[in-house]
Amino acid sequence: MQKYIVKAKRAGKKIGFVPTLGALHEGHLSLIRRARKENDLVVVSIFVNPIQFGPKEDFKKYPRPLAKDRRLAKSAGADVIFNPSAEEMYPSGYQTYVEVGKLAEGLCGAARPGHFRGVATVVAKLFNVVSADKAYFGQKDYQQVQVIKQMVEDLNIPVQVVICPIVREKDGLAMSSRNQYLSPEERISATCLSEALKVAKAMISSGIKDAIKIKKEMRNIIESNLLGRVDYIEIVNAENLEPVQKMQGRVTIALAVFIGKTRLIDNMVIG
Ligand code: AMP
Repeated sequence: MQKYIVKAKRAGKKIGFVPTLGALHEGHLSLIRRARKENDLVVVSIFVNPIQFGPKEDFKKYPRPLAKDRRLAKSAGADVIFNPSAEEMYPSGYQTYVEVGKLAEGLCGAARPGHFRGVATVVAKLFNVVSADKAYFGQKDYQQVQVIKQMVEDLNIPVQVVICPIVREKDGLAMSSRNQYLSPEERISATCLSEALKVAKAMISSGIKDAIKIKKEMRNIIESNLLGRVDYIEIVNAENLEPVQKMQGRVTIALAVFIGKTRLIDNMVIG
C-alpha cells in the first residue's frame, strides 16, 4: 500500500481516504462519493480493528461481507481497497498506542473504555500508510471526529479531515452497520433515537434553554419505548465536548441507546 501511494504521489495524484470497518451502507458510500469528487485517487480501508472493541463487544460477530463491500465501494468511486489482516496491523511485539486526552474521556469514551485509544491508534497507522491529502469521516460518530481532529493537530499529521453529514433511513434512523443486528421489532423501536433528537430540536426552537429539561424529555421518549435503554444522553459544547447546562453557542446533543442488545448512537449539532 505504501509503495503504491508513493508512486501515485510522485505522479502528482491527490489522495482521498475513507477509513471504515466495512459492512458498507449509504453512509459510507456518501463519504466515498465525496472523496471521489475531491481527489484523483480514492482509497477505502476495510479493517475491523480488534483494539477498538471491548472484551464484551461485538468484534467476533461484526459483519464482514468483503465481496459485497468491494462491489459497493467500487461503484461509489473507490480505486483501492486496503484490507489488511489484524496480524499485519498488530504483529506480535506490537506496543505503541495513541491516546487522546480529555476529548476521549466522556460520552462513548466513558461507556467504552479503551475504545478511542484503539480508534486513534488505528487511524494514526492508517494515515501513515495511506498518506492521504484528505480523509473523510461521518458526523455520525461525532466524538470520533473530534478525537481524530485533535490527534491530527497534536501529532502534526499532514492530512485534512473532512466531516460529512449523517445519512439516515427514510424514517430517521441513522444508517449503521449495526442496524442489521436489529430484529424487525427492534428496527421499529430504533427510530426513538432520531425522534428524541427531533423533539430536542423543537424544544430548543421554542426557546427552551435548560439542558436538564431537554435531556429529561429525551429520556422519556427512549424509555417509553419498551426495547430502548439509555446508555447516555448528553448535551455538550460542540468543540470541547464538555457538558453544558444552558443552550448557548454551538452544542451537540449526543446519545447512545441499547435497542435490545444492540448499542446505537446518534447526534445533532445545534447552532
Ligand atoms: P464505521 O465503518 O462504522 O467505522 O464507519 C466508517 C466511517 O463512516 C466513519 O467515519 C463513520 O462516521 C461514517 N459513517 C457511518 N455511518 C454513517 C452515516 N449514517 N452517515 C454518514 N457517515 C457515516
